[in-house]
Amino acid sequence: MRLVKLLCSISNPRSKSKTLFSLPSLRGGAISFFSSFSSSTAMDASGESLRRDLAGKQAAVDAQADAVRSLKARPGVSPSEIEAAVEALKKLKMESADIARQIQSSTVAADESSSSSGAAAAVGREAFRQAVVNTLERRLFYIPSFKIYRGVAGLYDYGPPGCAVKANVLAFWRQHFVLEEGMLEVDCPCVTPEIVLKASGHVDKFTDLMVKDEKTGTCYRADHLLKDFCKEKLEKDATLLPEKVAELKHVIAVLDDLSPEQLGAKIKEYGITAPDTKNHLSDPYPFNLMFQTSIGPSGLSSGYMRPETAQGIFVNFKDLYYYNGNKLPFAAAQIGQAFRNEISPRQGLLRVREFTLAEIEHFVDPEDKSHPKFGDVTNLEFLMFPREEQLSAKSAKKINLGEAVAKGTINNETLGYFIGRVYLFLTQLGIDKDRLRFRQHLPNEMAHYAADCWDAEIECSYGWIECVGIADRSAYDLRAHSEKSGVPLVAHEKFSEPREVEKLIITPSKKELGLAFKGSQKMVVEALEAMSESEALEMKAALESKGEVEFHVCTLNKVVIIKKNMVSISMEKKKEHQRVFTPSVIEPSFGIGRIIYCLFEHCYYQRPSKTEDEQLNVFGFPPLVAPIKCTVFPLVKIEKFDIVAKRISKALTTAGISHIIDITGTSIGKRYARTDEIGVPLAITVDSTTSVTIRDRDSKQQIRVDVDEVASVVKEVTDGQSTWADVMWKYPTHAVTPADEA
Ligand code: AMP
Repeated sequence: MRLVKLLCSISNPRSKSKTLFSLPSLRGGAISFFSSFSSSTAMDASGESLRRDLAGKQAAVDAQADAVRSLKARPGVSPSEIEAAVEALKKLKMESADIARQIQSSTVAADESSSSSGAAAAVGREAFRQAVVNTLERRLFYIPSFKIYRGVAGLYDYGPPGCAVKANVLAFWRQHFVLEEGMLEVDCPCVTPEIVLKASGHVDKFTDLMVKDEKTGTCYRADHLLKDFCKEKLEKDATLLPEKVAELKHVIAVLDDLSPEQLGAKIKEYGITAPDTKNHLSDPYPFNLMFQTSIGPSGLSSGYMRPETAQGIFVNFKDLYYYNGNKLPFAAAQIGQAFRNEISPRQGLLRVREFTLAEIEHFVDPEDKSHPKFGDVTNLEFLMFPREEQLSAKSAKKINLGEAVAKGTINNETLGYFIGRVYLFLTQLGIDKDRLRFRQHLPNEMAHYAADCWDAEIECSYGWIECVGIADRSAYDLRAHSEKSGVPLVAHEKFSEPREVEKLIITPSKKELGLAFKGSQKMVVEALEAMSESEALEMKAALESKGEVEFHVCTLNKVVIIKKNMVSISMEKKKEHQRVFTPSVIEPSFGIGRIIYCLFEHCYYQRPSKTEDEQLNVFGFPPLVAPIKCTVFPLVKIEKFDIVAKRISKALTTAGISHIIDITGTSIGKRYARTDEIGVPLAITVDSTTSVTIRDRDSKQQIRVDVDEVASVVKEVTDGQSTWADVMWKYPTHAVTPADEA
């Protein structure tokens, strides 16, 4: 989600400031339609010098982070000293993010330049997508919602096979995450009161910049219009001078960082008009993507349809922590609908206005982010695209997960553990591992409080798509809700021996403040109590030297004078029996619709018909996600075969295997082709009363199995206990004849 201003993208509470695609990829790859990611060009001299600056700044960040860590570990260090060191670290991180952003601009610009040579590949991708989407829509995997009323952009229904695939994906998600990790699952309402989303930052910052056709009022996403304009110019205008080419590429690279004013100025400068009418466009303005509603009949209580499920978990933290025996770490999970009123939804299921999210919030002690099961994933090796490779214009590469954590490429074990688990989840579903990569966020993409973020990106005909975000969000969300609700969302660590600590005590004198500020007294008291340690110590010094000090009270939006007798500030030594802290949260967030769409593309292929005059569509789903596990076909329409087919169907039902019987008189080859098209992995053909054939969808090989054994063989293969190759060994092969082909 883009944010109104650059500053916001750094400090946004739920920072979503990203375009759907990351850098374009247009190099020839394993499948002719596609290409693997390519970040092509060499950086110029200024790029080199920026990278040197970044390396220097990064070294300073690391050194300062070490300094903070050792200060925290040293006994007797005052909190103000630690706070000052943390502030210095934040400042260095901001500076480093700024340089990274500049490098990213030149990298994206360079990559865009290579994309025009991929026009032919783009045509291939478009044709491939058309073939997939036609099959999906014709076989009712999904349907544009409210179609008989001409539909609504960004809203889709899942039809019968789509529903079955989605149910299988979610069942596997529950098994792979909730069950495996003993997560606490919750199910919260979609309608959410305003205060919750105010605290999370969504009310103020969950925005995209929009422009309107001045005559018709049609709305467009401002950054999309500008990007489309620049890309079209670059692709089609051969007369462009080199300076103009560089300028357009630069604009594409920095799109996410442009303020409304800068975006508006560019739209005017380039003379961009409304695409449909060529009318003038309004200035860009932020549009909040949440669907607003009111709760109850009075209309006084404002609410929103939730834009994510995570907030439901955060607000329940206290009860869930108690439910978990007041122990950390633990994870809560939620599957549910999320709503985002996208300005211009496009790319089918990839950018929609209502979609299913599956989210995990793993709560952990910020001082110990180790994971007891990290050893289970440490040997995995897969495509990763760390920050450094992106900034030095290299490609994603295979990296060992254990090494990535050990070297600090991935910030901590728990984050690494979830990255590994997400990799296993996606590849077991059927996502091609060579078209899956984990891309680390660049410093300017991350909120300042985030420790590290990685996206699982899947390559499909639209490019590399972010399908799962895995972020270490530190303590931000729980703190925000603690502050707004007044309910401490904290965890405790009991000490075996009491420890002596120095604590800052701020005691406002309500009597003196009441006399001075009357009705505003409460606000002044709250502001004094909310001072950070460094602010309080600064005030103490000023009161001691001058007797009074100016103090800005945000809630009053004015500066007041605080005198010495109005507040006492001191550092006191105290014995503590426990540590009270706000847990960090590690959040894997899965866009289920995006994963399913990419799965459709990765599983789809075509093969020629018997006469080779037609291409037949096949979805090669793994049995785990296949909407129907097998079909039963009586070879010809005779009663004795029908009786056997019904007996097999009963046995399959008892074994819990979804199946369909097709008793139409159509040729067996056509019936196979029809079910290949919805991805049914196995087909049983009844051609005798004692034994039947089972056909494997992808190899088209057949085996002969006794009628009484057939359900258990199908179960073995579809449950994943045996592969087709295993059962091929065990049972006699049945020769495939031309009649078996469509
Ligand atoms: P976010 O909270 O923006 O990081 O989104 C979490 C996940 O939701 C992303 O990784 C996407 O997979 C998915 N997602 C976000 N926006 C949309 C959308 N408009 N349509 C479909 N999926 C989305």
